[in-house]
Amino acid sequence: MDQRRAGKTFPRDFRYGSALNQHLSPLIELQKLDLRIMEITDQRRKIPERLHAVEAPLREAKQLLHDMSAAVEASVKERRAHERDVEAQDAHTDKMRARLSELKTNKEYQAHLFELQMANKKKSEIEDKVLACMERIEQLQQTAKEAQDKVRAAEQVFTKEKQVLDELESRLSVELAELESQQRDRSGKVEPGLLARYAKLKAARKDQPLAAIKGGMCAGCRLQIPPQLVAEVKRSQDLHTCPYCHRMLYWDGDVQADQRPQDQSKPSDLEVGESV
Ligand SMILES: [Zn+2]
Repeated sequence: MDQRRAGKTFPRDFRYGSALNQHLSPLIELQKLDLRIMEITDQRRKIPERLHAVEAPLREAKQLLHDMSAAVEASVKERRAHERDVEAQDAHTDKMRARLSELKTNKEYQAHLFELQMANKKKSEIEDKVLACMERIEQLQQTAKEAQDKVRAAEQVFTKEKQVLDELESRLSVELAELESQQRDRSGKVEPGLLARYAKLKAARKDQPLAAIKGGMCAGCRLQIPPQLVAEVKRSQDLHTCPYCHRMLYWDGDVQADQRPQDQSKPSDLEVGESV
């Protein structure tokens, strides 16, 4: 709604006289709608972050699975490399063995035999590495399988919670559309000057432009209202505003029960407090 218009067209001491209640009642109803609209808008705004939080365990499980799968892959590569080394070592010792018969002296033979033993020892070391790799792969595959189970479980939980949030979102958007339609209807029934003022207060306060007096306090800012002003809000039909937060005050209780004899004085012509 247009705030500039609100400031220009509505005099501070505008008096509604006896028609005030008829003016304020639709405004009170409008405020109820507005508050619910704000509440819904806020709830809807939080849905994406709630969804993100609900998805966190699934993201973690997927990350673990990804890490485990990468670790398995790396270990398989390493095992293959060691296996190729074993094959190369085999080919090498085969050649060495073949040369044994060609050797002439015992010294040469002994030296070659020693080299052959060394080569066999090296091969056995590489084979140990292959075995270690295989053990590690088995462990990693087990962990990867557990991670896969976690992903599946987390997916189920996430799907359910997402469904709940999706349903909430569609329910809220339907309600919001309905409330906004009611808001337009009600706005049309409020006196334009008062509506403009309401809009201006709403924009300034970011919440309710009207405040009931409860327990002698303004329900908007929770500050104590001077007793004289409380009495005037109860008794007179003038528009009064909270001297602290400038919200339009209204009396939400039984007027007769609280009415004291001295309150029967002439109602004030002036609006109390200042507009924003
Ligand atoms: Zn106040």
